[in-house]
Amino acid sequence: MPTEGLTPKLVCRNIPFNAPSLVGDEFSHIADAIHRKQLSGDGHYTKLCEIWLKNKTGASGALITHSCTAALEMAAILCDIGPGDEVIMPSFTFVSTANAVVMRGGVPVFVDIDPVSLNICPKKAQAAITERTKAIFVVHYAGVLADMPAFTKMGKAHNLLIVEDAAQALGSTLAGRPAGSLGDLATFSFHETKNVISGEGGALLINNPALQERAEIIREKGTNRSQFFRGQVDKYTWVDIGSSYLPGELIAAFLYAQLSQEDKIYKRRLEMWHAYADGFQNVIKAGKVRGPAHIPDNQHNGHMYYLLFDTLEQRQGFIEGMKGRNIVTPFHYVPLHSSPAGQKYARSCGDMGVTDMISETLVRLPIFYSLQDQQAVIDAAVEIIKG
Ligand SMILES: *Cc1c(COP(=O)(O)O)cnc(C)c1O
Repeated sequence: MPTEGLTPKLVCRNIPFNAPSLVGDEFSHIADAIHRKQLSGDGHYTKLCEIWLKNKTGASGALITHSCTAALEMAAILCDIGPGDEVIMPSFTFVSTANAVVMRGGVPVFVDIDPVSLNICPKKAQAAITERTKAIFVVHYAGVLADMPAFTKMGKAHNLLIVEDAAQALGSTLAGRPAGSLGDLATFSFHETKNVISGEGGALLINNPALQERAEIIREKGTNRSQFFRGQVDKYTWVDIGSSYLPGELIAAFLYAQLSQEDKIYKRRLEMWHAYADGFQNVIKAGKVRGPAHIPDNQHNGHMYYLLFDTLEQRQGFIEGMKGRNIVTPFHYVPLHSSPAGQKYARSCGDMGVTDMISETLVRLPIFYSLQDQQAVIDAAVEIIKG
């Protein structure tokens, strides 16, 4: 069963897969937001979050949203995806990457991932380009950045917009360049399972300034409300399609408290990630299991530590063994190309062998800011793997 989006802590395990953690001034910022007497969106804390995101990434625009799903829907509108238009993306991703396209009448075209980075393979993406292709939605899986220089080149050569689904990648860099600054558009998630959280939350980053004004309109239900408040137009009216993609100020206040401590969260995640890498060093050397590959110049953010087994049976045996020790270790994703909606609304280009294999053999280990008993997780896992 896929566990993305569920809250394993409700299952009452001793060591959950994830738990939302407070890191600083969440309560005082929320109290302050209430005293400021604006609880609807686009107020004081929304602005602070957006300035923070622009400074962090160097993007020319940042708009926070109520989820990464919302930001992806905005991206699909901004890419002008219409009926029959194709968007190339990995099948090994969360449903929101594909749904955003399908909701515009577009067709997700799935291609296989690279077995080392687990990210969409540029060569296979190139082979999937047709006259109907409008965009490529690139996912940075586990906070490891995809080969963005290759996709940027492809975008230029074929007049395609490149969107980074950077839901998992806040803080990651590729040759020093931050996730969120590498595509025409990029999306982040602040869902409670991500590194920086606000329960539900997200952001759209804009690196193509031509898209900025329309993005603001789409987020404000298709109105020019933002321009009106800046005094740029003298009446506020319906000018385009759009929806309510704004979070309220209470969420933004919580989020700003987390963003302000992002360096601390990043450091702690990397510490935990490396503790796993060290803890599994011997079983990995012995060839009993594999861990994430090291990719030069690609600095991930410690979002995820996973193990890869040789077979589905071994992976399931591991999950059962961990469950017996009260430790939750989920797997994902059921590949979108073989899901019921994927078969109905999307198509695949080429073989999906790597996606199918990774989806059957990958398991995720608990990693969250307030994780206490990481050594117990490592000890239990090593014992099961050796067993
Ligand atoms: C978490 C995630 C999403 C969805 O994020 P929400 O904020 O929950 O909407 C989208 N894409 C990927 C790759 C994700 O990991």
